[in-house]
Amino acid sequence: MSEKTKVAFVTGAGQGIGEAIVKRLVKDGFAAGIADLNLENGQKIAEEIKNSGGQAVAIKLDVANRKKFIAAVEEVADELGDLNVLVNNAGIAPTTPIETITQEQFDNIFHVNTASVIWGIQAAMKQFEKFGHGGKIINAASQAGVIGNPGIALYSGTKFALRGITQVAARDLADKGITVNAYAPGIVKTPLMKKVAEDLANDAGKSVEWGWSQFTKYITLGRLSESEDVAAAVAFLAGPDSDYMTGQTLVIDGGMVFH
Ligand code: NAD
Repeated sequence: MSEKTKVAFVTGAGQGIGEAIVKRLVKDGFAAGIADLNLENGQKIAEEIKNSGGQAVAIKLDVANRKKFIAAVEEVADELGDLNVLVNNAGIAPTTPIETITQEQFDNIFHVNTASVIWGIQAAMKQFEKFGHGGKIINAASQAGVIGNPGIALYSGTKFALRGITQVAARDLADKGITVNAYAPGIVKTPLMKKVAEDLANDAGKSVEWGWSQFTKYITLGRLSESEDVAAAVAFLAGPDSDYMTGQTLVIDGGMVFH
């Protein structure tokens, strides 16, 4: 491996937006750590990347587990020889009408979507320090973490919270040469969003197409997002063109939320 090959570790990279991020970062010259609960999916993507001449390692990880998160990032960094970028992408999005929310649901989603961001930051800091340089930490927010969306109080809450953590970490870690930013997708055609559209349609007794159309009508550009639309924004946050940017949430939603 050339000394200049940069290494990115991406969570929830076994499908959807994370898969697109990994593929885009490899295209941009990164070696990639593919972390997911679903190891089989991660391994398939790693094989695909290696077969087309890229470098990738798949690892099984539950991002809610602090110890395992730190160990997984260490293992991948040692195998690929560095760590420059960590993308906290993994997340879950259950529909949770307020009156139905249970303590178990609260604990689970806040561990997976929000606590994991702190564990990822800690894991990245350790490796950046070990390899003697700064780096970039990039967290998956959502347009639903910028504006409260109906029916998903827990999900919106986790994404608002992680934007707060992103801002604080940006301030706390700047003197170590670390930038911390977030990306906020809109409605992306992934298995996660398909489930949300299906739930909405089932509740209304309508078709899945109707479910998707309920989201499209709020998108200024008039189309749902592809995972690659989001990956392009993450590539910007992972690359040198965003060096003078920290603590920000980049919204890539086709024009749903305006500041
Ligand atoms: P997805 O469900 O299609 O894929 C998520 C991946 O994360 C899966 O491979 C899953 O196995 C993995 N994962 C889930 N829990 C995990 C855990 N505890 N540890 C490790 N891996 C885990 O989701 P997606 O649509 O690609 O979403 C990716 C991120 O983008 C999430 O944080 C999501 O909240 C955010 N987001 C998605 C949309 C959208 O419209 N799809 C919109 C805004 C934000």
